[in-house]
Amino acid sequence: MTTELLRATGLEAGYGRVQVLWGAGLAVGDGETVVLLGPNGAGKTTLLKVLMGLLPAWRGEVRFAERDVTPLRTDHRVRAGIAYMSEIGCFPGMTVDENIRIGGQFVPSARLKARMSELYALFPAIAERRDTLAGSLSGGQRKMVGIAKALASQPRLLIMDEPSAGLSPRLVKEVIQVLDQLGSDGLSLLIAEQNVNFLNLADRVYTLDGGRIGFEGSVAAMHDDDALRRAYFGLK
Ligand code: ATP
Repeated sequence: MTTELLRATGLEAGYGRVQVLWGAGLAVGDGETVVLLGPNGAGKTTLLKVLMGLLPAWRGEVRFAERDVTPLRTDHRVRAGIAYMSEIGCFPGMTVDENIRIGGQFVPSARLKARMSELYALFPAIAERRDTLAGSLSGGQRKMVGIAKALASQPRLLIMDEPSAGLSPRLVKEVIQVLDQLGSDGLSLLIAEQNVNFLNLADRVYTLDGGRIGFEGSVAAMHDDDALRRAYFGLK
């Protein structure tokens, strides 16, 4: 791995008295794309929320850019350079423009203006719809608004929760292409997914099951493991 950007260790967390994460941890290197793979209910969303400070860690530590961010509020983690795209991704009751402005709320206004021009150049389809409510766009366009909103804060690391959710296979391909481009441009990505097509992007993979990390390694190493191959690729 290159220089480490994110490192989470020994995370325990849950809801009320229900524990969901049992000592989970992962790392993302600077410029790396990491895919967190796991079935429904494995705890992927819970883990990402703890990384973002949207849910408190009962135990464990989150470090970002060599700094312990575990005690920091979500907005301070965003200012530190982490962006988060939830499964929904954007606010459907707000226009495209408003969504992106919210994503960039901590960016100085002159810089945000330039940033928005860059983002609209990257996503021409939503540029044409900037005054349209995000909720009335197609699923694929809504996803692009979500990505643009997250990128507006000029993050070093983009954390995404199931970017494939609700998309047709064709649109999933489009999203993968966009993420591939962002990764090539140097953005670090942590993507929680069930869709194995995202493994094409991955420098490294973690599997999460029952709130615990099972496997960590390359996609090739995953293929070499009989149990993982059967579980995730449906192959014998
Ligand atoms: P999915 O792909 O279905 O989103 P996931 O891997 O992201 O799954 P989580 O959403 O983190 O999994 O859920 C992990 C466990 O925590 C599940 O058993 C779920 O029922 C439970 N859970 C999630 N959110 C809450 C909540 N707000 N209150 C109580 N339990 C919750």
